[in-house]
Amino acid sequence: NLIELSSTFKKLIDESEIIAVASHLNPDGDNLGSVTAMVGMLNKLGKDVVFILDDKIPKSFKFLPNLSFAKAPNELQNDFDLFIALDSSDENRMGDNIKKVFEASKKTVNIDHHFSNTNYADLNIVDFKSPATCEVLARIFETLNLELSKEIATSLFTGLSTDTGSFKYSSVSSSTFLTASNLFKYDVDIDEVTVNVYQSRSREKTDLLIRAMNSIEYFHDNKIALVFVTKDDMEKSKAEKSDADGIVEFVRDIDTVELAILLKEKDDCIRLSLRSKSNIDCTKIASKFNGGGHVRASGGTINHTDLIKAKEDIIKVAEEQL
Ligand code: 5GP
Ligand code: MN
Ligand code: MN
Repeated sequence: NLIELSSTFKKLIDESEIIAVASHLNPDGDNLGSVTAMVGMLNKLGKDVVFILDDKIPKSFKFLPNLSFAKAPNELQNDFDLFIALDSSDENRMGDNIKKVFEASKKTVNIDHHFSNTNYADLNIVDFKSPATCEVLARIFETLNLELSKEIATSLFTGLSTDTGSFKYSSVSSSTFLTASNLFKYDVDIDEVTVNVYQSRSREKTDLLIRAMNSIEYFHDNKIALVFVTKDDMEKSKAEKSDADGIVEFVRDIDTVELAILLKEKDDCIRLSLRSKSNIDCTKIASKFNGGGHVRASGGTINHTDLIKAKEDIIKVAEEQL
């Protein structure tokens, strides 16, 4: 239960001097929100803390507090007393470089909300009913009676908002709104979050969206729609990696579509993104492609670069789910 887990967590923090906080590759709002909130809280508790980052921060999240604590894995000088992994369903999601730091740390904690979480740490606080790791973390702070700050609340609210699709998904519960309500006691500036996260799409990202949408194909009575993001699309639009975020949701939001599929061409593989509306369990499809995630949002990897073959394979598996 959360009271016991939270107090064990606090004990581990109290016993540690130098603490690492990290999350998965391709950082999203929940991941950066939970990490920066954790960093802020550890600072408030007087701990020596490092945010380990092995990726680029998308422009829309650069407004988040505590990002200056970020260090790349190769800049680290010592091992850590405690390593806190956030929003990562398994240690591989953090990438090889961060995984090594995780393995070298004296004690490890895993705080997450993925159903597929493998309980890979010494202490695992995983609530797959929560729509966001930020909700889990907010409830841990509440359970421990830890006072937040405006900055910590802003971080937590950002992740809560992004992982719930702005409070639209069925994973949202009364506890989610209660959490949001408590965060707003700390004077969260909603305009700051909204403008940065939702109203700052760059021209390059917009161009990439247009290119991707030009590739759309429909299957199974228009219930399945698939788009590609090719390396050529990325180059021609001058987009950055995270600029492909949001495309698969745009496809999902077409009225007839039950399942949206995005195939993203990489140098040596194809990344798969899946989104569904109501009936389809994306994890069942993603698990056939070395992936996982949530019922309504999953991802995976196809270990070749033949986009046409990948399309045929994924459509076949998807049609079995309809
Ligand atoms: P996205 O499509 O945004 O990359 O990922 C959607 C969801 O699926 C995220 O919640 C993410 O945690 C999960 N996910 C994405 N890729 C993978 C993967 O390779 N393995 C697992 N287990 N989950 C993934
Ligand atoms: Mn995430
Ligand atoms: Mn999440």
